Amino acid sequence: MPRKPTSPLHGTAAAPRRARAMGATQAEAFLRALAAANPAPETELHYTDAFTLLVAVVLSAQATDASVNKATATLFKAAPDPAAMAALGKAGIGEHIRRIGLWQGKARNVAALARQLIEQHGGQVPNDRAALEALPGVGRKTANVVLNVAFGEATMAVDTHIFRLGNRTGLAPGRTPLAVEQALVRKCPPALLRDAHHWLILHGRYVCKARAPECWRCPAVAACNYRDKVLTPPAGK
Ligand code: SF4
Repeated sequence: MPRKPTSPLHGTAAAPRRARAMGATQAEAFLRALAAANPAPETELHYTDAFTLLVAVVLSAQATDASVNKATATLFKAAPDPAAMAALGKAGIGEHIRRIGLWQGKARNVAALARQLIEQHGGQVPNDRAALEALPGVGRKTANVVLNVAFGEATMAVDTHIFRLGNRTGLAPGRTPLAVEQALVRKCPPALLRDAHHWLILHGRYVCKARAPECWRCPAVAACNYRDKVLTPPAGK
């Protein structure tokens, strides 16, 4: 019988159940198991180019991808590039994104970000971490997503799912998102690193969930060091 978890959060930072840290060989086995289950992973945000990806990622902080996709369906029609977005302005952007959390601050950031792209980067999204992080509303995680998805760089953006998963499974334990990011970059084989970002986010979102990981249907169960695996589905699942 699997042991009963000591916390409903199952190994989150709030209630850590320290898993033994994986070595590189085990980490590779873990990632290859996720890869076999989803060979061509992609972001679930809708975008058409680097600019719309950047805006979608800025909007996605503390919001679901589904809610962002609903908002950007009309926003990107009205403003598909930095010039149109800057012209739309904070109030105009706000009209499209009111259903997203923190929409007022995000509308202000997206308008300012579009202006800055025009004034400092010729209307292009820069392929450069420092320049990206200098844009309003863009932090390390957003820059990593844009560098990875738009520019093909092997970066690792650590969101809440990857932070939890890195600690829970022993794949990349760390007290901060940056520590988890650095552990993942250290352990992931370079050839897997770019896609690992997607595998881990999707795995955390749909299988290794925050409150109750669904270990009974996890493709990486044999390589995982979580100590309270849920190997029997609850009734009705
Ligand atoms: S076995 Fe469970 S805890 Fe480990 S990665 Fe899979 S779902 Fe997460």
